[in-house]
Amino acid sequence: MVFDTASTGSMHALAAARELVAPEARENGTPPGLVMYTSEQSHSSIEKGAIAIGIGQKNVRKVPVDTEFRMRPDALAAMVERDVAAGLRPFCAVATVGTTSTTSVDPVAKIADITDQHGMWLHVDSAYAGPTAIMPEYRWIFDGIERAHSLVVNPHKWLMTNIDLSCFYTRRPDILRRAFSLVPEYLKNQEDPRAVNLMDYGVPLGHRFRALKFWFVLRYFGRERLAASLREHIALAQKLVGEIRKDDRFEISAPTPFSTVCFRYKGTDEQNMAILETVNQSHRFYISQTKLNGKTVLRIAIGNLGTTWADVHDCWQLIQSLAK
Ligand SMILES: *Cc1c(COP(=O)(O)O)cnc(C)c1O
Repeated sequence: MVFDTASTGSMHALAAARELVAPEARENGTPPGLVMYTSEQSHSSIEKGAIAIGIGQKNVRKVPVDTEFRMRPDALAAMVERDVAAGLRPFCAVATVGTTSTTSVDPVAKIADITDQHGMWLHVDSAYAGPTAIMPEYRWIFDGIERAHSLVVNPHKWLMTNIDLSCFYTRRPDILRRAFSLVPEYLKNQEDPRAVNLMDYGVPLGHRFRALKFWFVLRYFGRERLAASLREHIALAQKLVGEIRKDDRFEISAPTPFSTVCFRYKGTDEQNMAILETVNQSHRFYISQTKLNGKTVLRIAIGNLGTTWADVHDCWQLIQSLAK
């Protein structure tokens, strides 16, 4: 189904995960002892979802990442086992395919081995990178995805669709329905039993027809042209990485599997922030920052249909001029 945002979709995934493991929560409220896991690089919406459904921030375990910012399955397994031994109830793990800071890809299949073993729900957040799976050469990002219980992908992030539209997939709609269906007298009607009533699968009662605009995008471009556009963005990012590597005042801070480039001026955090502020105040480009291994890192994300190498190159030249 379709939600407004990935944040809303992931919150619904967590509610379904709780329903699977602790169905008494619907009646009695969230019981103590439920714990969930996500990497320290996951998006804040995961923790926010846990806050919203009453899991509590301290019951969201942040699993360490490897040198390429991917969740470490060995660390996840150890944390789950420690919690089980302590009498707690692990109920969910959230893997990220394309993290926000660096676009790293968590090893979904290895994480699924652990969640299967412990009867946990596996949710995959692929809000940013998910659209690349339309290209055969990027299908690998979803290796193991058939073992996930739910998945979010955002056409409004990187598939030419205006905000808001986030796709939510689940192979356990029955559990989602069990978590959310509540039909008062005034909503009972003689509907066709084959009809799927979306009010049974989440918080919203009324739904606007978001899928229509996405249908137009798919019809207008077609898969080949959408794929060509994503390939172009990825190629621009790889070319930019090549340019950055030629300037030894800068360094690349993370692998670039998609179209987001993480790099930094080899100076202080303050100098990097000063570059960012000047670039953004130019009102020609908008770049962002993150912290990796304790250092401020600059990020250039390429994902607009109209972006060309001239734009990317101009932005890089401005950054170079500020490093002087
Ligand atoms: C952008 C992003 C989100 C949040 O997306 P919204 O649709 O704005 O809620 C969640 N997860 C990841 C990995 C993201 O990149």
